[in-house]
Amino acid sequence: MNNMVKSLLISLCSLASLTLYSQNNDVKIVVDTLSSDVYMLTGQGGNIGVYVGEEYVFMIDDQFDRLSNKIKAAIKQLSDKPIAFLFNTHMHGDHTGGNAKFNEGNTTIVAHDNVRKRVKSNKQKDLDAKKISLDYFTKMLPEVTFSDDITFYDGEETIMAFHVHNAHTDGDAMVYFVSNNVIHMGDTYFNGRYPYIDLNSGGSIDGFINAHKKALMVINEDTVIIPGHGRPSNKKELQAYVTLMEEIKSRVMAAIASGKTLEDVLADPSIGGDYDKTYGNGYIKPERMREIFYKGLIKN
Ligand SMILES: [Zn+2]
Repeated sequence: MNNMVKSLLISLCSLASLTLYSQNNDVKIVVDTLSSDVYMLTGQGGNIGVYVGEEYVFMIDDQFDRLSNKIKAAIKQLSDKPIAFLFNTHMHGDHTGGNAKFNEGNTTIVAHDNVRKRVKSNKQKDLDAKKISLDYFTKMLPEVTFSDDITFYDGEETIMAFHVHNAHTDGDAMVYFVSNNVIHMGDTYFNGRYPYIDLNSGGSIDGFINAHKKALMVINEDTVIIPGHGRPSNKKELQAYVTLMEEIKSRVMAAIASGKTLEDVLADPSIGGDYDKTYGNGYIKPERMREIFYKGLIKN
């Protein structure tokens, strides 16, 4: 290796570690109070739900491993009670990344059956590559799983978790705090932005829309919705989102029916139309949204 390449590599490496360092330091955990006992925590990655009950803290999703200490400190500000349950809404790393760090003491991790399966197969690769220890691998895995639904009780509160089929992934679940009237929808809802639907992990367009419809049956006008990403929301906004999803679906279905290819649809901004301005500025840009809908619907 010549010296110039060497020094370039060294500066690239230090640049990379500097970016990582500043990323961790810059992340602030912000707490929104949604009801008397339920809070939403935002940092980096999926929104965290925290319920402070009579006996214990019930936590939903945990973002990334590197943020665990900050998240724990933020929860400590809300309550000294133990985190009895940590619920994973689905398997993605920005919702389950902190599992191993939280899986200690009396904390039990709960999720749908497929979350355990997918986290296990993903982390198996890291274990084989010796990136993580066997202990860490084991702690990443949900310890209690369910197929359809599971209910928790604490004082006056009933916490109902239910699975929705093939929506964002094949292991999504929503968590509804009945007395507090707050629901965490996980990544079956991206408030104010186009959705990411993970077709390679069992997600589907129809399942995603059906998940919204199921949530709409459970909630009322006063329910506060914690979306997987975006600000807290409500029934009216969710209804408008279903309209958006169904309109875009019918436009893509029409394009498919008239023989349009993926390339045609990728090049056609009329699919999103006016929605692009409002919903196309998040992680999923208009073109990527068109790709997800086309690939998801061509299978029908
Ligand atoms: Zn996700």
